[in-house]
This record gives sequence, C-alpha cells and structure tokens, in this order.
Amino acid sequence: MKLHTVGYWGAYPNVNEATSCYYVEEEQTKILLDCGSGALSKLQNVMELQDLDAVFISHIHTDHMADIYSLEYAMLILQQLGKRKEPLDVYIYAENRSDLSFEFPHVLRVHPIHLTESVVIGSLQLTFSENVHEVPCCAMKVMNQQGHAFVYSADTGYTEKLIQFAQNVDTLLIECSFYAEQQGLVKGHLASYEVADIAKKANVATIILTHFPHYGNIQQLKEEVTSKTDQVVHLAKEGFTITI
Ligand SMILES: [Zn+2]
Ligand SMILES: [Zn+2]
Repeated sequence: MKLHTVGYWGAYPNVNEATSCYYVEEEQTKILLDCGSGALSKLQNVMELQDLDAVFISHIHTDHMADIYSLEYAMLILQQLGKRKEPLDVYIYAENRSDLSFEFPHVLRVHPIHLTESVVIGSLQLTFSENVHEVPCCAMKVMNQQGHAFVYSADTGYTEKLIQFAQNVDTLLIECSFYAEQQGLVKGHLASYEVADIAKKANVATIILTHFPHYGNIQQLKEEVTSKTDQVVHLAKEGFTITI
C-alpha cells in the first residue's frame, strides 16, 4: 500500500498547505485518514475525489476534520454529475455524533468507530486504539492482506497503549507537536524525545513525523528524534509518499 502525506500541520494550515490528512491507496482501495483544513484542495493533486472509498476521522478537532463538510458537498455534486453512485462511508471517533452537522445522508454514511471492532475496506483492515487527548481520539492501524501495516498516532500525549498498538509495524506516522525543550508543558500532544521513545519501544522500522508546530525550525524536530534513535526518520511534507 502507498501512504501520501497530504496535510501535516497542527491547528491551522500554513500558506498553500493543509492540516492533518493522509491518503492511503492499494490498487482499487482508496481511503483517507483525517480530513483537516485545506485537505480537500491538496488531495486532488493525488487522486480523483469520486474514487474515495472511506474516510476515518480520529477526533472532532477541526485540524482533523474541517474539510469533511466540504467533502460532503463534493460528494453531493459528484453524485449529481453522475460521477459517483454510492454514498461515502465516514467513520468518526466522537463522544456524541449528534454534534456533527452533516446534511445529506444519501451522500455521506456516518458510522461510529468502536475500539473493539475492526473495519475492512477493500483490501485494507483498520483497527483502533484509545489516545490521551482533550477529547476522545483514536490511533489507527492500517494493514493489508500481506500483513504490512502502519500506525497513525493522530493526536496524543505519551501513552503505553500506543507503544503496544504500534508494536513491530513497518511504519509509524506520529504527531510531533513540540520541540524537546517544551516537553511536559502541554498535555495531549507529543514532544520529539517522547516520539523517539515510543518509536523505539514499539520497534517500528520507519518513523514519519507530522502535525507540526508553527514556529521554530521543523528540521530540528527530525534532528531531535534522530539523536535518540537509529530508526529511519522522515518529515511529512507535500508530495511525500512511502510504500508500506
Ligand atoms: Zn491536531
Ligand atoms: Zn486534537
């Protein structure tokens, strides 16, 4: 399977970029993990929207789901144009789904994510794990039929659950919201040394850092993580893709 980092900022998008959004494809299976602000525009550089099979939303913070409402309108218009027949399946981890304001049930089919239930979309299987965050938020594991897998952390503070959940996967796509010197200042997010610690203990082969802060030098995050581990470390960016 192929993973594309479409949006990788925390909070709000930098100019001409997007917040959290990751596109995963394997042959005919095409899914999205989170759909943040600016994501829909950037996504169309790598795929046709009508081909999407499902979207998984880790939590209700807008840097992870702002564009899901635009995607609903895109699906409505694509249906009207005859380019798409089926509604889009959207899986959301949220306390109260009635807070969400979707308008067209024939266009978007909204499902709750249950931590105990896996979801199969085409050739990919998704499982979930509870995070430490201000609102309910889940990490996601995507596995193909050959057993290749990656874990997307979404937003989380330090948690053993993520270490267990990501144990021995090929790739860990993990939030790195803070520099090492900021560790402990804010709960519910990870600083660079914590990321390295989790990735090391989880024994993953490759680390991709994402959900960046809007200050400092992002390259420093990579240097800080690299200084604590021998694993391969990448920074999410425009056009970055990896085959897992
Ligand atoms: Zn976030
Ligand atoms: Zn969040």
